[in-house]
Amino acid sequence: MSPSRVTRREFLQSTAVAGTGAAIARVTPGLWGQVTPAGAAAPPSVWASKTMRWAQLTLVEDDPAHFDPAFWFDYFKRTRSDGVCLSGGGCVAYYPTQIPFQHRSAWLGERDVLGELVWGCRKLGMSVLIRTDPHATYDDAKAAHPDWIAVEANGEPRRHWSSPEMWVTCALGPYNFEFMTAVHKEIMAGYRPDGIFMNRWDGSGDCYCVHCKENFKAAMGLDLPRTTDPHDPERRVFLEWRRQRLVEVIDVWNGAIRAINPESSVIPNNGSGALSPLNAIETSRRAPMLAADRQARHGLAAPWLVGKSAKEYRATMGDKPVIGLFGIGLEEQYRWKDSVTSNAEIRIWALDAVANGMRPWFTKFSATLHDDRWLKEIEDIYVWTEKNQHYLADRRPLARVGLVYSQQTAWYYGAKVEDYALGWYQALVESRIPFEMVHDRLLDAEHLAAYKTLILPNLACLSDAQCDQLRAFVSKGGSIIATQETSLYDELGTKRRNFGLADVFGVDWTGKVQGPMLNSYIRLEHEALPGSAFFAGLEDAPRIINGVSRLEVTQREKFAETPFTLIPSYPDLPMEKVYPRVPRTDISCLYLRRPAGRVAYFPFDIDRTFWEILCGDHLKVLRNTVLWANDEAPVVEVDGPGLLDVTAWKNPGSITVHLVNLTNPMAMKGPYRDFFPVGPHTVRLHLPADVQAKRARLLATDKVVAMDRSATVLSVTVPSILDHEVVAIEI
Ligand SMILES: [Zn+2]
Repeated sequence: MSPSRVTRREFLQSTAVAGTGAAIARVTPGLWGQVTPAGAAAPPSVWASKTMRWAQLTLVEDDPAHFDPAFWFDYFKRTRSDGVCLSGGGCVAYYPTQIPFQHRSAWLGERDVLGELVWGCRKLGMSVLIRTDPHATYDDAKAAHPDWIAVEANGEPRRHWSSPEMWVTCALGPYNFEFMTAVHKEIMAGYRPDGIFMNRWDGSGDCYCVHCKENFKAAMGLDLPRTTDPHDPERRVFLEWRRQRLVEVIDVWNGAIRAINPESSVIPNNGSGALSPLNAIETSRRAPMLAADRQARHGLAAPWLVGKSAKEYRATMGDKPVIGLFGIGLEEQYRWKDSVTSNAEIRIWALDAVANGMRPWFTKFSATLHDDRWLKEIEDIYVWTEKNQHYLADRRPLARVGLVYSQQTAWYYGAKVEDYALGWYQALVESRIPFEMVHDRLLDAEHLAAYKTLILPNLACLSDAQCDQLRAFVSKGGSIIATQETSLYDELGTKRRNFGLADVFGVDWTGKVQGPMLNSYIRLEHEALPGSAFFAGLEDAPRIINGVSRLEVTQREKFAETPFTLIPSYPDLPMEKVYPRVPRTDISCLYLRRPAGRVAYFPFDIDRTFWEILCGDHLKVLRNTVLWANDEAPVVEVDGPGLLDVTAWKNPGSITVHLVNLTNPMAMKGPYRDFFPVGPHTVRLHLPADVQAKRARLLATDKVVAMDRSATVLSVTVPSILDHEVVAIEI
């Protein structure tokens, strides 16, 4: 296999990373989207856009001997599933493959189980994806093709960590580029599915095989780095090269299957958000739909996490379908893959996915049922979504606030950046402010057109070009809220001497950092700013706790309003010594400007501290700052008790407000045992005067309700919310 279809020179120019032997130098910064070879944008796809409810049957090797296909066809019918993903090949083939070294299920015999399932599902009118998994193979493949196997840093071939009779394959060499291409062609020619869903296709750790060595050397002129430190310049070159290589393999697979079925597509299973190592923009461009593989909560995780995935995928997928791939079991590190969690937990997870714009996709590992307690719950959820499909299809979010996330900051500054985003996410959910996620490589005017306010949660790594885009957004009346080290590094994590956005913030960094700051506070300047909107809910609070880490900055100008000032740390022991040494300073904790849009800059980690401590005072400051920055009537306001995830949508026939009731003692650590109804709530929508509202319905309780309309405000009362409610205004 030739190492790359991109020349080294093109690669260097397009990725802003230059490698010449050991010497690494910066070249002209470039944005993603220029990185990859032309070609391969997803074709228009009827099957992807029409399919609303997916089912996945992930076969295990002995299923052919035990499972009952008729049961599953009946269940797909009962759940109104109109799309299915069926296991086909890769590490185990469920059909009589002719590809050497593709292992047939030892329980297959003379059957074609895949064919039986595809035929049955097509008879039901379902869209069909066939799943392959290339991440592991067997001794015979290794003996004939030792170069297919991933290699450890010490030169040893890599055994599978869980199935020790198997070997882990290299994702960047001929196993994926040639063997799996042959598998995909055979499956496409034999069964003509709508697409091939690829599981674990992007490798299992760093590989030091002969192909990785030679291809990296040929492409970049470097030996494979032996460090995993993302701050190492050669490691960065390697990470960019690997991302590029994985995009290339998608293109190879798409080219092969589209030669047989032009409407088809590879659907790569990949993570979302800042922490994903893959190039989200390029994978999104190549697929007509993507499935966000967030099967369940684990550890300490908020129930809105699945909604966050929806927003992240939508940021790079635009109007293309985003599918919420969820499981039915406990998703913990001990991997009880045949487990079944509580029905309440399945339900809240699926409902929050739907509320955030996903189409549901349940996945069942093993077609042999070990525990059937989940069946009825999925059926209920799916039947409800089918019944209300015309409210769920073709919807666009009405959010005016964008929470920006940055893969490059996670890659080159550190995964810690996620805690800042999670703080904002929690604050926005608690504040019931509808919002979307925005990818930092898509800050052009077109992608930002819907937004009034962008939040930059310690978005440390921003290129000069990205800073210019944000500057342009503010100059056209957009508002930004930024925290701590936002723009203090370039797109490759090289520290600047000052913020890239210093002129926008109105402050310069002195080069000093304070922290961790213990026992430090923020003074509310009620005397200077009586009744300030920043003090809403804090009218009786003279001071609140500070954050933990702070940059020292100097002001470029005199700020018109300084609502919060610093009370520096003072001793916290012995108790006799715990009294403020300096009760008041003129050091601002929030810099506010109104150049055209509004700018709010916190020089400290209020968002990260909020995620760690969840202090209600910080919540109020964050909420008040968003309302100040947005400076317009909110799209939707919800009054009433509890913790709700609120999203607002418009489609050709309706405006919908989803209210997911997250109020639960297990809200931050699953699984839910039960639901606790909250209410009543008043939902107020601010509508343009020319939008006619015909009728209001509550879709969960399934009834028409009264609405109260003034010129631009429409109010509906929701008496009680058990798990969720959807206010649908037919227009
Ligand atoms: Zn390799």
